[in-house]
Amino acid sequence: MGEGVLSRIAASVGTPVYVYDAATIRRQYASLTRALSAAKHDIHYSVKANGNLAVLGVLRALGAGVDVVSAGELRRALRAGFTPAQIVFGGVGKTPAELEEAVRVGVRLINVESPREMGLLAEIAERLGRRVDVGIRVNPDVAVDTHPYTRTGELGMKFGIAYDAVPAVIREHRQAAQLRLVALGMHVGSQVRAADVYRRAAERLVQLVAQARRLGVETLQYLDVGGGLGVGYRGEPGLAPEAFAAAVVPAACDTGLLLLVEPGRYLVAQAGVLLTRCLYRKHSGGKEFAVVDAGMNDLIRPSLYGAEHDVAVIEPSSEAGDAERCIDVVGPVCETGDFLARDRPLRGVGPGALLAVYGAGAYGFVMSSNYNSRPRAAEVLVDGGCWGLVRERESLEDLMAAERTLEETDWRE
Ligand SMILES: *Cc1c(COP(=O)(O)O)cnc(C)c1O
Repeated sequence: MGEGVLSRIAASVGTPVYVYDAATIRRQYASLTRALSAAKHDIHYSVKANGNLAVLGVLRALGAGVDVVSAGELRRALRAGFTPAQIVFGGVGKTPAELEEAVRVGVRLINVESPREMGLLAEIAERLGRRVDVGIRVNPDVAVDTHPYTRTGELGMKFGIAYDAVPAVIREHRQAAQLRLVALGMHVGSQVRAADVYRRAAERLVQLVAQARRLGVETLQYLDVGGGLGVGYRGEPGLAPEAFAAAVVPAACDTGLLLLVEPGRYLVAQAGVLLTRCLYRKHSGGKEFAVVDAGMNDLIRPSLYGAEHDVAVIEPSSEAGDAERCIDVVGPVCETGDFLARDRPLRGVGPGALLAVYGAGAYGFVMSSNYNSRPRAAEVLVDGGCWGLVRERESLEDLMAAERTLEETDWRE
């Protein structure tokens, strides 16, 4: 996206605003599709990375399916026009109501993450008289070198059914009249940049597929290898889709199953920019600060994961000199952990300057909150030479719409 369009959007919509580039999403989708071309595969975009309806629309037009982890994401996907057959439903803590909703909708696949959930799903399917296609999300127990909060494929984490416990779950449910075990799957973590993790985990899945078949399971159709492909936020290499493909395609070929992949970040991270304006400059204790109008409530990744995003000055401030300064870009939230970037050499940062925080398309807006009673940012989609508002900025009234004052409260016993 050119700086011209970013300036025009900031002037028209105000800041903070998330801006997404449809062309980048298409480019990422195309490179992953190309890399996986040796295997029959379907890409189910992980909605939790960025669930904006228009972003979902771009992916749907490309032929993607989706991976959802809540009834809210399921509703969102349907609203964006995905058919039930394009939806995979996963997640570690689905409520009975969410499972029932997924069964009623008739999604392609429900990935189960605990033995108890499998039992519950069998009951629901029985009660509704519906045949349900299920997958088991296996915890393959492979160590992943990523942030501790985004590791999911090791024992001692809350995700999936432990590798060794899977055969027992299969044995218990292989006779269930309404459940059809169609998939074995995994998701080893997020922002994973080493392909060998996928190779080792996929090999373990292949062994489980063989074991399931020995137990008499003849219904397997999919090998779901999850998402997690890492991207380079500051020019460093991410996981090349070719390396990812080389790690997982052999497993699909060995088993003869259709490969399902669930990338989120890889498809949208680099497509997004958070635009923010500088309010103030200050010096304190030998440090330089730029206080901007976006904070940790808008983009929590730096505070939560220590993530580093590239920051650039799109419009310099008339009040700032030419000299390059090492600056902390911080938000207005009353927390010391409220920063977007630290110790960055930047030029032209002063009141009124427009800054772009790059790589903000995944786990940006979706993780934003109203902390400090700050309305959530607007979202804009750029496509070719045009741009459109795809989510209005929240209003101050929106913030209190569901609340009651003490006087309005309806007291009960
Ligand atoms: C979060 C998640 C993904 C997507 O992860 P990314 O790192 O965004 O690719 C895929 N599958 C499951 C089950 C997830 O929970």
